Amino acid sequence: MGGISRTINYKGNRIDIGGHRFFSKSDRVMDWWLNIMPLQATAADELHSLSYQQKKRQIGSTAHGPNPEADDCVMLVRNRKSRIYFMRRFFEYPITLSVDTVKKLGLLRMMKIGTSYLKSLVFPIKKPEQNLEEFFTNRFGKELYLTFFKSYTEKVWGVPCHQISAAWGAQRTKGLSIIKTITHALRKMILPEKDVRQKGTETSLIEKFLYPKLGPGQMWETVADLIKKEGVEIMTEYDVTDIHVEGMRVKSVIAKNSSTGDVQTLEGDYFFSTMPVRDLVRALDAKIPQSVKEISEGLMYRDFVIVGLLVDKLKIFDQTPNGQKLISDNWIYIQEPDVLLGRLQIFNNWSPYMVADSSKVWLGLEYFCNDTDDIWTYSDEKMIALATSELFKIGIIDQSAVLDATVTRMPKTYPGYFGTYDRFDELQSYLDGYENLFLIGRNGMHKYNNQDHSMLTAMVAVDNIVAGITTRDNIWSINAEMGYHEEKEASKD
Ligand SMILES: Cc1cc2nc3c(=O)[nH]c(=O)nc-3n(C[C@H](O)[C@H](O)[C@H](O)COP(=O)(O)OP(=O)(O)OC[C@H]3O[C@@H](n4cnc5c(N)ncnc54)[C@H](O)[C@@H]3O)c2cc1C
Repeated sequence: MGGISRTINYKGNRIDIGGHRFFSKSDRVMDWWLNIMPLQATAADELHSLSYQQKKRQIGSTAHGPNPEADDCVMLVRNRKSRIYFMRRFFEYPITLSVDTVKKLGLLRMMKIGTSYLKSLVFPIKKPEQNLEEFFTNRFGKELYLTFFKSYTEKVWGVPCHQISAAWGAQRTKGLSIIKTITHALRKMILPEKDVRQKGTETSLIEKFLYPKLGPGQMWETVADLIKKEGVEIMTEYDVTDIHVEGMRVKSVIAKNSSTGDVQTLEGDYFFSTMPVRDLVRALDAKIPQSVKEISEGLMYRDFVIVGLLVDKLKIFDQTPNGQKLISDNWIYIQEPDVLLGRLQIFNNWSPYMVADSSKVWLGLEYFCNDTDDIWTYSDEKMIALATSELFKIGIIDQSAVLDATVTRMPKTYPGYFGTYDRFDELQSYLDGYENLFLIGRNGMHKYNNQDHSMLTAMVAVDNIVAGITTRDNIWSINAEMGYHEEKEASKD
């Protein structure tokens, strides 16, 4: 339950595949989440700027909100911390122009970064940028791009930045730029952010987020329980293999249970698809134009392996007046080019309730790969050995610190903005032609949607049906840089 935002429970230690911050600039989504899982009591001061309805609900129904020590159905408010690990050192994320950064990078490199940034301001690459390399260079300068963006982004995608569409940068880093990073740091010094909605803040700079006590999957398990109580049947383990159409209407789907082999034909008035677009097109029993098939077959995906490692301690720590403490990062971007490891999650810092024994450290080592790469076929033992040795190599653990481990492989975590993506419009307008078929979500739309945007696409699809609106434009414009109404409103704050 929960798709790629489900939570895996390994002996009471929980893995969030990817690390899911619950944060949205859409009130509709924030209210929806908090309606399912109320905010923890100690976060009561966060309430001051929630909408009137929300405040009424929070204060009216639960005087001070549930206490996570006693209740499971509770949304925690967590602080975000994520740093970059590069040259065996930590750098702030996003990178800040501090004395510390200058000391770590060295004066010469900093001067190069400064001059190349100025150059990008005076002589920007002609807009609109043609690829991600140009997008980053225009915003950060060539040198900063080469130092902090290129190798990590290429680890994530497995292709050079100049082959990735600039649209990905626009969606992921939103309006992030050096000027905004500096203004944000100054504003933070003068006016600390108290409101969990953080409407005036660029998404990449958000400092607080909501998080279900037992991980993101808990949200979807709770929702499933609620709707089952309403009499809805949820069929799990059934794969839709064929989609039967008549003209431009879907009549039924054929679904096969992957465990029992049972096959069912399911009819419906409306169909919402979250299956990868490539699979959807393959399943359609229609005469599909050759060019549409070509685009669909050329869509690319990036897959993901996560190794959960339980360790008794890390070699890196935060020094406090009271002694050494576990570092407070939720996740760390591993920029080191000599390891395959992409990101390191510290689940204790997402929610302390995700770890069975709080004296231990529960880590998630993320490897981005293709399902055709060797690493995808490694046995669990080989994968665990690789993860352990890489973490040792970059100085984060001693090999003897590992107490237990598990491996999860997750196909199609990232829809690629390369391959035939530049011709996606043609495929989209063909599929939009099906009157009662709605493409929603992340892989469902082949779009880098986060949970909130994935949810909004579903909500707007239903709004359209209720209101008799037949265009899909307002669904596709969610999370497009210019078209997202609530975000545009928010950026005025
Ligand atoms: C590494 C990583 C980090 C992330 N971090 C965040 C974050 O911090 N914040 C955030 O908000 N979002 C984050 N996300 C994004 C979030 O996971 C997605 O937006 C969200 O899960 C997408 O929901 P979905 O329903 O569209 O797709 P999915 O979660 O992929 O669900 C699709 C469902 O369709 C089912 N399905 C597919 N094919 C078929 C078929 N043929 N027949 C039947 N069923 C089928 C699948 O089994 C699955 O249940 C992250 C994602 C990743 C990979």
